[in-house]
Amino acid sequence: MSKVLESLDKEFFVSVLDALNDGVYFVNRKRRVLFWNKGAERLSGFSAKEVLGKSCADHTLNHVDDHGNCLCLKGCPLASCMRDGQSREVSVYMHHKLGHRIPVNIRSFPIRDERGKITGSVEVFKDNSQHLTMVSEFESLQQEVLTDALTGVGNRRYADLSLERLQAKQDKEQQPFGVILADIDNFKSINDTWGHMVGDRVIVAIAKTLSGILRPSDIVCRLGGDEFIILLPNATAPGLEIVGKRLDLLIKESWMDLGDEILSFSASMGGVLSDPSHCVETLVDLADKQLYLSKREGRGCVHVSGKKL
Ligand code: GH3
Ligand code: MG
Repeated sequence: MSKVLESLDKEFFVSVLDALNDGVYFVNRKRRVLFWNKGAERLSGFSAKEVLGKSCADHTLNHVDDHGNCLCLKGCPLASCMRDGQSREVSVYMHHKLGHRIPVNIRSFPIRDERGKITGSVEVFKDNSQHLTMVSEFESLQQEVLTDALTGVGNRRYADLSLERLQAKQDKEQQPFGVILADIDNFKSINDTWGHMVGDRVIVAIAKTLSGILRPSDIVCRLGGDEFIILLPNATAPGLEIVGKRLDLLIKESWMDLGDEILSFSASMGGVLSDPSHCVETLVDLADKQLYLSKREGRGCVHVSGKKL
C-alpha cells in the first residue's frame, strides 16, 4: 500500500483526509490555517471558507484548557510543536461556531520541508465527549480508513476513492483503466467444511497472490466477504487480458496445506476496460456481469469484455 500512496496526487489525499471522522487542519508558521478538512467543519461548525487564511486564534477555535485559560496566547500546542519540533497530545475545549465548548483530544505535530526546517504544523482533533481514545499516529488513521483489516490490501473505501481518482484522470487525460472483479468459488462450502478460520486463511492467501503478482501502481482491494476488485491504471485491452489470464492461472494453481489434507481453491473473475461514456457504477456493474459469466461457465475462469480467456 505504501508504494501506492506515494504515487498518489494531492486531490486523493484531500479526499482521504475528508473521509476521516476526525478534524484535521494545517497551519503555517504564522498560524494561518492552510487546510481544513470536512471532519473539522463538522466538529467545529466552521466551514473551510470561514477559516482558511485566518489565524486559528482569530475568533475561531480558541482552545482553552480545563481551567478556562485561553491557549492561543500562551500554551498553543501548534505554536509549541513548531518551536521545539515535538509532537504533543492534549485534551482541550474547542470553541464551536454555535457558541458552545466541545471537549476535544488534539494531537499536533510539526511539518518539515525536505531540509528538515519546520514550516508549519498539523492538528488532528477528535470529539472527546465520550472520552474516546485518540488514535496515536496520523499515518495509522490514514491506514485504518483505507485498509482491509484481515488481508492488509485496500478496503472498499479505498476502492471507491481509487475508482473516482482513475475516472477523473480518464476524463482529464483520456487514460483508460482496467477493472477486474474476483469472487472466490464455492467459498461457503470451504467455510462449512473447514471452518471460518481456514476460510479467512484462503481470503488472505488470495489477497496476497493478487497483490504479489501485480505492479505496485495496480490496486487490489477487498470489497467484503470473498470479493475483490483489481484496478489497473493506464490499461490497454490486450494488457487487461494478459493480467486477467495470469491472475486466473495463478489463483487456480493455489492450494493450502492443512496438515492432513491439501485444500485447493479458485476464483472466478470478470474484467472490463473503462470507457469515458460509463460512470464508475456502470463500469463495476459491467465487470460484475463478466464475473457472472465466469461463474455460469463452471467457475475458475475469467471473462474480459465478453471473451473467455
Ligand atoms: P460462488 O462460487 O457462487 O461465489 O459461491 P460462494 O459459496 O463463494 O458464494 P458467495 O460468494 O456468495 O459466498 C460468500 C461467503 O463468504 C458467504 C459468507 O459466509 C462468507 N464470508 C463473508 N465474509 C467472510 C469472512 O470474513 N471470513 C470468512 N471465512 N467467510 C466470510
Ligand atoms: Mg464466492
